[in-house]
Amino acid sequence: CNLKSVFSNEALLILGRVSRNMPSLSVPPPKCLQKPLVVPHHHMFGPGPSNVPPRILEAGANPVIGHMHPEIFEIMSDIKSGIQYMFQTQNKMTLAVSGTGHTAMECAIFNTVEPGDSVLAAVNGIWGERAAEMAERIGAKVNTIVAPPGGYLTNTDIEKALSKHRPALFFLAHGESSTGVLHPLDGIGQLCHKYNCLFLVDSVASIGGTPLYMDQQEIDILYTGSQKVLNAPPGTAPISFSERACQKVFNRRTKPVSFFLDLNWLANYWGCDDKPTRVYHHTGPVTAFYSLRESLAVLAEEGLENSWERHETVAEYFHAGLESMGLKLFVKEKQARLPTVTTIVAPYGYDWKEIMSYIMKTHNLEISGGLGPSVGLVLRVGLMGCNSSKANVDMVLAALRDALKHCHRSKV
Ligand code: PMP
Repeated sequence: CNLKSVFSNEALLILGRVSRNMPSLSVPPPKCLQKPLVVPHHHMFGPGPSNVPPRILEAGANPVIGHMHPEIFEIMSDIKSGIQYMFQTQNKMTLAVSGTGHTAMECAIFNTVEPGDSVLAAVNGIWGERAAEMAERIGAKVNTIVAPPGGYLTNTDIEKALSKHRPALFFLAHGESSTGVLHPLDGIGQLCHKYNCLFLVDSVASIGGTPLYMDQQEIDILYTGSQKVLNAPPGTAPISFSERACQKVFNRRTKPVSFFLDLNWLANYWGCDDKPTRVYHHTGPVTAFYSLRESLAVLAEEGLENSWERHETVAEYFHAGLESMGLKLFVKEKQARLPTVTTIVAPYGYDWKEIMSYIMKTHNLEISGGLGPSVGLVLRVGLMGCNSSKANVDMVLAALRDALKHCHRSKV
């Protein structure tokens, strides 16, 4: 087009000066970006993320729409219903945070805890340690109760600590993915309420794979991630707050440190408050919402009880197979074994890292080492959502058998 008809003489002069004086780029376009994107297909049998089936991937490939369009609000409302089903809760304050499990963890802690509040964290692996650190960072007085490695806390241990520390919030990981422990939940919510304390539960590695009833078990805040049993890509994190939790959150003396995770704003964006209009807070990751909705639809189609039963049957079959190979399970008590993530005692005399990389190289299959307190002690195998099948167990057992035959053994 004719620039003179668009810009004034003055503007043209400035444009000319800018282009003449502009320094050359010191960072050229990267060569690597000229190559096409290549992503391998692996069997994702670590503690997460798990494989995403085509139906859920395709849902995420739908066109982007506005994060404030009526159509996305309808999708978000479907997600809310799906989360209420998955969590077994009637809580109105139910939504998905834009971010991974850590984001939900911080959302729970930042909104319910004020500086100076007392917080108690059950440590039966890395997640209790992280929750304690998050609460510490915002100025809470934090105490921990530590379970033995591969074990869990009794309700008596918990009550003793509640009565001693009188916390405002008690954190517990239901599925401790670092140790493979499934922590019992019954009666703990009631104990917390006896001591006027909120009960916060991490179900990132457990929800959908083993029974959990948010309302009946009197859990005040429950969160999870999208990338485990749900088989959606990482990046959205369902969370729900009870009426009791909302009372604390909406009667704070101070504002939460995070604007992004402020429940006042999130509640409005997700239509969980009674306000007639929604105000822009952040640009919701709409395509991630599509995938999350689809993953919740898959879970609802199968039915929670069927999913729980399938994970349990497959885990028992897996555990029996491991023991028949002479491998040992890190969690001794059967009832306390997480059916989604199995921890195997690192085979004696082997380098666990070599086993992991051999299995990836030879069998295209991801398994993982320990995490936090379990590093060097265990191998971790996650069979979650669509990955939880006897055929996949057979594949993992064959890969492990092959690795033990071919990897270097320093001690016998
Ligand atoms: N809690 C548990 C029990 C987990 O297994 C994980 C992820 N491994 C998280 C929290 C954190 O989730 P993310 O990596 O999605 O932030």
